[in-house]
Amino acid sequence: MPTLHNAAVKFAAAVAGSALVLAGCSAADDSDVPKHPSVIILSGDGMGPQQRTAIQYYLYGLDERQPMDALPYSGYLDTIPGDPEYAVTDSAAGATAWAIGQKVPNGTTGLGPDSESVPTLLDIARGRGMATGLVNDHDVTNATLAAFGSPVPDRDLKVDIAEGYLDRGVDVLFGGGEKYWYPEGNPGKIPDVGEDDASEGDADLVARAESDGYQYAYDQSTFDALTGPKALALVQDSAKRRSTEIEGYDYGTDPNYVAPEKLVAKALDILGANENGFFLVIESDDLDSDGHEHDAQNMMLAGESINEMVKVITEYQKDHPEVLLIVTADHETGGMTIENVLDDGEPEPNSDQVADDPVPYWSDTPENMPLPGGGVPQRSGPFTIKGTDRRFKVDWTTPEHTGTMVPVTAAGPMAERFTGVHPNTYVYDVVTELWGAN
Ligand SMILES: [Zn+2]
Repeated sequence: MPTLHNAAVKFAAAVAGSALVLAGCSAADDSDVPKHPSVIILSGDGMGPQQRTAIQYYLYGLDERQPMDALPYSGYLDTIPGDPEYAVTDSAAGATAWAIGQKVPNGTTGLGPDSESVPTLLDIARGRGMATGLVNDHDVTNATLAAFGSPVPDRDLKVDIAEGYLDRGVDVLFGGGEKYWYPEGNPGKIPDVGEDDASEGDADLVARAESDGYQYAYDQSTFDALTGPKALALVQDSAKRRSTEIEGYDYGTDPNYVAPEKLVAKALDILGANENGFFLVIESDDLDSDGHEHDAQNMMLAGESINEMVKVITEYQKDHPEVLLIVTADHETGGMTIENVLDDGEPEPNSDQVADDPVPYWSDTPENMPLPGGGVPQRSGPFTIKGTDRRFKVDWTTPEHTGTMVPVTAAGPMAERFTGVHPNTYVYDVVTELWGAN
């Protein structure tokens, strides 16, 4: 396997190199590698090519390129896991490929192919004296972030994952999932709503974090007061927007909700103070959940959050050209397609099939169920392409992940390496090369 992997990397590097020459770009960027390069990986979980396209059409139209696609370099990453059985990855194996540069079986969260412990990019960053941060719009102990900051044999060991973050001293931890940090019976700071919201575990990890020197925030005002260098913010999980909107929940008036782009701006403020640079992994997990539940409307809203986060980061890069930003996904979710809506408002024939549709946890019926007369189902459209009269709907082929390649866009030092088609492990290769170049 290592031989194949290295060959693939060399081939990919050759492709990227020749693409640069063909494009007439200067390859001198490498000699411009800054002394203390920082790295941000931003993953839209489940954000395949069609998701990125739908977000573009619905929110930005045909004239203005959405921020994540306006980055100067782009390419594709494959997503296949190192699994003896499966062709399609889960988030744990997908993130592990980035974190350790090796393809591993599904379910593996930050460990090697034989479940052995290996240094992750976050470990390497810490070894370089860099600040480290993990940010999620959903549960901060999710598999993607855990693969970097708290490798575990099972992605569901959420309390262990939280503990592992503290053991490693990850400087910035922002996201939802408060229940894993408080002992059973202690509701924490955010009101528990719904069965799934009760506290778990038996350790008070918030108290532990505070005694370890972390500042702690749980709502907008405590969040605004954070200054670092160590900060833990356990705020309203963005999943609440999706699961309770039918009952009228308005996250805009929830004091415990902090918009993802604000989480990112604060993370940059705190981490950017480290003179050795920083390593930050950000995930929009909500986008994947929306794909699993065939909820195109909320998928596109999660995409808007990603673009807002990208805007904050590209603004930051203007004064900090030493920051490499990589925007990609661990896989596609839902087998989403963009389809026409016919003149009479009906979807194209045979484009609404119930068979593959999941029943979301808040509902009794599939979200993609055709309406009486075969009309476009709730949450699948029709959506208008911004600034036009043209409309589209979305359709789905599975409630699970799919094996398609995913787009990757990048800006900053060595961003040009992401031109071309590469294995997902290539993220690790480029980042370690960037850090090794000093
Ligand atoms: Zn998923």
